[in-house]
Amino acid sequence: MENKNGLPRTYLLKPGELTLKGGNKREFERVLIRNLEALLRFTGAAVSPAQGRYFVHSSEDGAEKVEEALSRLIGISGWAKTRVCGKTPEEVLHACTETAGECYAAGIRTFKIEARRTDKSFPWDSYGIRSRGGAAILDVWPDLRVDVHKPQTIINVEIRDRAYVYGMEHRGLRGLPVGTAGRGLLLLSGGIDSPVAGFMMLSRGMKVDAVYFHAYPYTSEEARQKAARLAEILSRYALGIKLYTVGFTAVQLRVKERAPEPWSTVLLRMAMMDCAEKLAQKTGLKCLITGESLSQVASQTIENLTCAQSRIRLPVLRPLIGMDKEDIIRKSEAIGAYATSILPYADCCVIFSPLHPVLRGTPRESEALYEKLDLTGLIEEALRTCTVETHREGRPGRQS
Ligand code: ATP
Ligand code: MG
Repeated sequence: MENKNGLPRTYLLKPGELTLKGGNKREFERVLIRNLEALLRFTGAAVSPAQGRYFVHSSEDGAEKVEEALSRLIGISGWAKTRVCGKTPEEVLHACTETAGECYAAGIRTFKIEARRTDKSFPWDSYGIRSRGGAAILDVWPDLRVDVHKPQTIINVEIRDRAYVYGMEHRGLRGLPVGTAGRGLLLLSGGIDSPVAGFMMLSRGMKVDAVYFHAYPYTSEEARQKAARLAEILSRYALGIKLYTVGFTAVQLRVKERAPEPWSTVLLRMAMMDCAEKLAQKTGLKCLITGESLSQVASQTIENLTCAQSRIRLPVLRPLIGMDKEDIIRKSEAIGAYATSILPYADCCVIFSPLHPVLRGTPRESEALYEKLDLTGLIEEALRTCTVETHREGRPGRQS
C-alpha cells in the first residue's frame, strides 16, 4: 500500500496546542514543519501537511528512525502509523481489519472506531463507517471486543483526499514548537533540576541556550563533561543548543575569602545571575531560566530567591518553582536525562556550600555584602574567557 510519494509507510501527526492559536497559527505551523523536517533530515522521510494534519512518509527501513524522531518533536499531541488507501468501502474495511490485527498482536483486546468524513461522496456516513468497520473487524478477530466507554485503543478512519486508517496512537510531547516563543538562557548545572527546567521552557516554544559555571579544579573535568552531556540531551528536543562554559573559580574563591560563610551560597547565586544576565544581553537572549524549586534547599526560600535576582533586570523564569521533587525526577527520566544527572560529580555549589546557610536573606544585606566582593572585574574576565560549544540534535558539541 504505497502512498503518493512512493514510500510505503505513512505516519499521521496531530498538532497540539497550536490548534488554539488564532492569527499566529500559520507561523506556528511553519516552525513546526521546519522542526519536523530538521528532525527527519537523515531518515529519507518526506513531510506533507493537509487540513490540520501532518503526514510523514517513510521507507520501511527508515521507520525506526522516523518513530524515534517523532518521539522528540515538541508541538504534536500524538502520532500514529497510518494505512492510506483508496476511498472505496472494500479498501477501507480491509485497512480496518489489518489495523485491528496489529492492535491484537500488540495485546489489545478492546477497541472502538471513530470516523471522520470530510469527503461526503463516500457512500457511508460516519455512523455507517463505524458499524460496518466494527462488524468487519469482529468477523476477522473474534477475540476482540467493542468497548465504547473505555476502549484500549481507538481505530480511526478519516476519509479525506484518500482514506486514512490508524490505531494505537503514540502520545506526542505536546507543547508549542521550539522557536515560537523567544530565546532564553538556561543556567545549567550538572544536577537533576536544571535540564528539566530547560525542557519545560522548550516545551513552551522557547529557544534555549545554556551556561555552565565551572570551578576547576574544585569541580572536575568530569563535572563539566556531565553538563555538556546534559546540553546534548536537551539538544535532541531543542534542535541545537549552545553551551557557554564560564570559568568561575576566581569568583568562588573571592566569595569564600570575603563573605561571611552563611551567606556564601546566596552571594554565589547573585554572582551567577549577574554574570548570566551579562551573557544573555551580549547574545540577545531575553530571560534567564533556572531549575529552582521553592524551599527545595536553603538557597531556594522565597527570601533567598529574591536576593539572588535582586541585582538584575532580566526576568528569571523558574518553571519548576511549584513542582514536587518526585515529579521532577519522573520528568528527568522521561526526557532521558536522569541517568546522566545522577552521575556523582559534585557541582561547585556543593563543594563551597556552608554548614549553616542563611535561610532568609534580605536584598539590603545581600547587596551590601555583594558590593564588598568587588566582583565586576572578575565577572568580566570570566565572560571574556568563556568557551562556547554547539550541540546539534544529540550529536557531540563542537567547541569554538
Ligand atoms: P540542579 O539540580 O539544577 O543542580 P539544585 O536543586 O541542585 O538544582 P542548586 O544547586 O541550588 O539547586 O542550583 C539552583 C539552580 O542554579 C540550578 O537549577 C541551576 O539553574 C543554577 N545553577 C547551580 N549551579 C550551577 C552551575 N554550576 N552552573 C550553571 N547554573 C547553575
Ligand atoms: Mg545543583
